[in-house]
Amino acid sequence: MNFHIMTLFPEMVLGGLCTSIIGRAQERGCIAVNAVNIRDYTADRHRKVDDYTYGGGAGMLMQAQPVYDCWKAVDEEIKGRRGDDVSARVVYVTPQGEVFNQKKAVELSKEEDLIFLCGHYEGIDERVLEEVVTDYISIGDYVLTGGELAAMVIIDAVARLVPGVLNNDESAQSESHASGLLEYPQYSRPEIWHGKRVPEVLLSGHHANIEKWRLEQSLERTRRRRPDMYGEYMRVGEKR
Ligand code: SAM
Repeated sequence: MNFHIMTLFPEMVLGGLCTSIIGRAQERGCIAVNAVNIRDYTADRHRKVDDYTYGGGAGMLMQAQPVYDCWKAVDEEIKGRRGDDVSARVVYVTPQGEVFNQKKAVELSKEEDLIFLCGHYEGIDERVLEEVVTDYISIGDYVLTGGELAAMVIIDAVARLVPGVLNNDESAQSESHASGLLEYPQYSRPEIWHGKRVPEVLLSGHHANIEKWRLEQSLERTRRRRPDMYGEYMRVGEKR
C-alpha cells in the first residue's frame, strides 16, 4: 500500500514514520510512504503558499494553486504507475471531518494508494478542497496546529492492518476496537511483581478457560471504561 502525504513539513512525517514497525514495513516493501512538499509547487517567486483570508479574520490560509498543482503531480504519478485513469482517494485531515476510528482504518486499508492533505495556519482555500478531496477526517474534537500529526496517526493505524506489516496478524484481530470490545489485561514475566501475581488461569495451560477469562475481562473492562462501546456491543449481540 502506498501513502502519499501532501505537506509543508515533509521531514516531520518522514521522521515520525521511519522508525519501529512502520519503518521496518517500508524497508520490507509492505508499504511505501511518499511525502511531497506543497511549497515545491507554488508559482509564487518568493515560494509563498499562504495569504490573507477574504472577509478578514485572524491568520493566514493556504492558497489553492500550490495545493492543486501538488495534487495533480501526485495523481499523475499514481495513474502512470498503475496504468489507469482512476484517481486515488484524497483525505483532508481536518477537525471538521468525520471522527477517525478502527472501522475507518479497516476501510482505508483496502486502498492501493491513499493521498493525505495536511493543512496549516487557518486551513486551506475551500475551492481546492472541493476539487480534490474525497474524504474529510478528524482525529478528534480538538484543534492541532497542522495536519501532519493527524495524517501520521491515521497512517499508523491503517498501515498495521496491511498484510505483512505486523509479524503476527492475529494480534490485530484480538486488539481493542477490532471486535467492538477493549482488549483484556495482559501479563509477562515475572509471575510475581511488587507482590502482584499473574492471574492463575493464565498459568493453567487450559486454553478454553483462558479464552473464557479473557472475554469476561474484556466485557468488564469495556463496561467500566467505555460504556458507549459496551452498550453498542450488547445491542448488536441482541440482534444476532
Ligand atoms: N481553522 C480551522 C478550523 O477551525 O476548522 C482549523 C485549522 S488548524 C489550526 C490547521 C490544520 O491542522 C487543519 O487544516 C488540519 O489539516 C489540521 N488539524 C487540526 N486539528 C485537526 C484534527 N482534530 N484532526 C485532523 N486534522 C486537524
